[in-house]
Amino acid sequence: MPARMLGRLTAFPLAFALLLTGGLTGCASRGPAQVETQIFAMDTVMSLALYGEDQTSLQGTLDGLVDTLYQLQNTLSVTDEASELSALNRSAGQPVSLSAQTEEVLSAALELCALTGGALDLTAYPAVKAWGFTTGEYRLPGAAELTELAQHIDYTQLQLDSFAHTACLPQGMEADLGAVAKGYAGDVLAGQLEQAGVTSALLDLGQSTILAVGDKPDGSPWRIGVQDPAGESYLGVITLSGQAMGTSGGYQRYFEEDGVRYWHILDPDTAAPARSGVASVTVVGDKGLVCDGLSTALFVLGVDDGIQLWRDHPELGMEILFVLEDGSLVLTPGLEDSFTLAQEGREVTVVS
Ligand code: ADP
Ligand code: MG
Repeated sequence: MPARMLGRLTAFPLAFALLLTGGLTGCASRGPAQVETQIFAMDTVMSLALYGEDQTSLQGTLDGLVDTLYQLQNTLSVTDEASELSALNRSAGQPVSLSAQTEEVLSAALELCALTGGALDLTAYPAVKAWGFTTGEYRLPGAAELTELAQHIDYTQLQLDSFAHTACLPQGMEADLGAVAKGYAGDVLAGQLEQAGVTSALLDLGQSTILAVGDKPDGSPWRIGVQDPAGESYLGVITLSGQAMGTSGGYQRYFEEDGVRYWHILDPDTAAPARSGVASVTVVGDKGLVCDGLSTALFVLGVDDGIQLWRDHPELGMEILFVLEDGSLVLTPGLEDSFTLAQEGREVTVVS
């Protein structure tokens, strides 16, 4: 990979970064009116903050966003037996009717599965369950079980009929949208804010999935803390202006056995936790779903294949920050100016 060292990243004290970022996300200077809330949805804590001129209308818009999040959770959840996704997983090859929203998210996510050569695979769910990531009752599946599970991971078997608005999934296979649902939710909320005329908002959909609408009320970009995958502290800050960001990492959900860490992002080829030498991947782009889905996929692919994907698909408009297991960083040039390290001393490579 052609690469050059980046010597001019400035560093600033960590406490300053935390103050600026208000925890995981950016903390805005006060505009004339501001509303915010935190809710628990899609198995994570989400924080929404809206800025504008009129408190009452902002509050109405915020209430609408919260309703949408609960509705999306009901539709897209894999554990709620009443959800469309559960119906698909029980369908044993029979076509299941889809709402426009479920069809939209499945179709966009399947495109990413194809684009990433199956590194993202919505049908990894039986393997995710086998490791205990859905219940917290963790276990190590044996080699034969993993081979069997991997044989049944194949997103091409999930077929959408865009005329009949149905989907089919063969018996023995199950799909989940855990890798893309929060990003998709961010896109839906951003559309709602646009309709309401809100031009400054920060939507933290949890687990480092962020939608930055416009800029902060003072016109400066949002400042988002990026977690150090090797610790509790912050690695640095990314500035966002009307952009989405998604991070996937082995530190987000994992268990340890005999000193080995097993995390919730699986390699569809092996049905086991993906080990590509990457500790976390952050993707910045226009769409939440794309950033969320690609961060998961790039964690599986690793740096070399991930950068190749970035080169092959400029139309995606994505920028990437890889944190490798040895603590070094690899970033694409579009992040060179918008990413600032919290502390100096890391090897940083900007690809070209
Ligand atoms: P998080 O949900 O913690 O932000 P991700 O967006 O990376 O993390 O999504 C991880 C979730 O996606 C897992 O909990 C699992 O349900 C599912 N998953 C795991 N591996 C894959 C994969 N290779 N392709 C698609 N989905 C996956
Ligand atoms: Mg993801």
